[in-house]
Amino acid sequence: MDLSQILPIPNLLDAKRVLAFSPHPDDNEVGAGATLAKLASSGAEVTWVVASDGSVGTEDDRAEGLAQIRQTEQEAAARSLGAHAVRWLGFTDTHLRDDPGALEFAVVAIMRELRPTAVFCPDPWLPYEAHPDHRALGHAVSTAILMVNFPLAHPDAGPAVQAPYIAYYGTAWPNTTIDVSETFQAKLDALMMHKSQFLPPLDQKIQMYLTLKAMSLGEPLGVARAEAFKVLTNHHLHFNVDTWQS
Ligand SMILES: [Zn+2]
Repeated sequence: MDLSQILPIPNLLDAKRVLAFSPHPDDNEVGAGATLAKLASSGAEVTWVVASDGSVGTEDDRAEGLAQIRQTEQEAAARSLGAHAVRWLGFTDTHLRDDPGALEFAVVAIMRELRPTAVFCPDPWLPYEAHPDHRALGHAVSTAILMVNFPLAHPDAGPAVQAPYIAYYGTAWPNTTIDVSETFQAKLDALMMHKSQFLPPLDQKIQMYLTLKAMSLGEPLGVARAEAFKVLTNHHLHFNVDTWQS
């Protein structure tokens, strides 16, 4: 028996209202920028939700005002990809793990306020992912998927809503590949708006890496560029021994 018939994987391109959770300014662009642009251009309302202020992402120990610079870069990059809005959760960069309850509350609250049909976030189970903010936010969004529809869970975070489905970017086990041939250049252009993050030679290297990766993901589909995700529902995310290979 095919278990996927009982619990089908949703079609990501059907999403009408999307929240794209990003640990730092720029992660949405790296992981899902072309797909988010494609969704926006087809009429979906796409909101960037950036969890941290990005105040630590530099090797320059005198970088004052970095959070403000990165906020400006993020607003421009998101809008260039068709974002409806950028929302900031206001946590301190590199400290998302410090208070998992507060992070989970903030994520549940914004889901209940904006009622997305789909949410994006980093895959917290990516092997060798060492950045604690990526793991913390991925776990918080995954947990929130299980809580948003329970009125007695985080009752102060607003009335319960239907659980959205989740699309993990930066995943080692994708189950969904999206043709992004038409929006891929916009993704690279948006990424380069994060000037504080991609100084030479990293700017060229990351564009080359993302392009080669998008080409190899597109090859089996017969398309020029693709992005890959692990798309799951709340039912996949609890007590389900088949999810890892869904
Ligand atoms: Zn990041």
